[in-house]
Amino acid sequence: MVVLNYQKKHIRKNEFSRPGYKLLRVQAVMDHYTANPGADAEDHFEYFDKTIIQIKRYAGAHIFVDRYKALELIPLDEGTFGGNDGGNATLKLQTLRARDPRYPTSTGDGNANLLCIHVEMCLEPDGTIHPDTIKRTALVHQMLQRKFPQLKDTYNRFVRHFDVTGKNCPAPMVKNPSLYKNLLDMTHGLIPINLVSKPKEEEEMIKMAVVVYSDADLSVGYDLANEKKCGLYNRKSLANEKLKINELMVVGGSTEGLKDKTNRIIDLSGANRWDTRKKVISYLGK
Ligand SMILES: [Zn+2]
Repeated sequence: MVVLNYQKKHIRKNEFSRPGYKLLRVQAVMDHYTANPGADAEDHFEYFDKTIIQIKRYAGAHIFVDRYKALELIPLDEGTFGGNDGGNATLKLQTLRARDPRYPTSTGDGNANLLCIHVEMCLEPDGTIHPDTIKRTALVHQMLQRKFPQLKDTYNRFVRHFDVTGKNCPAPMVKNPSLYKNLLDMTHGLIPINLVSKPKEEEEMIKMAVVVYSDADLSVGYDLANEKKCGLYNRKSLANEKLKINELMVVGGSTEGLKDKTNRIIDLSGANRWDTRKKVISYLGK
């Protein structure tokens, strides 16, 4: 079960990783990998808050994602040096060729960093990106889509560093593009992030879960499951699972056929998807 676990710990303002200028707008999210096996999000805080100033290298990213958490190092309205490779790279993606006289790096071919939030995926010691890191990155994408509605156009607004400048980053997703497509499919809600799909041999007791009726309720179901830090199922997958859930939150549809699965039903279904969302929000006390 992967939850967002988003924490903010901003690095100090400095010339090399947090120059402090404002983004022109949030046009896209650029996904990266750290190329630094075994170093987690906290390690990268240390690197971008201290080491980088000592070695005088220009680099940076807003959010670092590892197996256990997502860490925001730079406020999301500020720019950093995530994906222009020194400002001299030839930009493959025309839409990200920003120029602005206020920023000295925006010369030549334009500067994608003026328009992008950068997300870095941390690596396991063996150099792979852990499946939980990928799932959490999808949750980070979804959080960014809630914050910046223009990003809901998933397949046009989320790009690999490779797509922007041709750099081999994130390398595992350049080598195997279907890995990146999977990540975006999770982001877009086409592949449920925390769906338990393998039937268990024996009936398992789970404390709490959310069940959605159809794709229409998927997004509010995600929000609720994230908030409650519990699993998310659709009707069909739940019917196939050999498990018992102590408290089952029903988001959309009737409670029919669910009684065998749970000790307690919390019915959050409304007359339609909007009504359902309203009920969930009021249940969460927001
Ligand atoms: Zn990169």
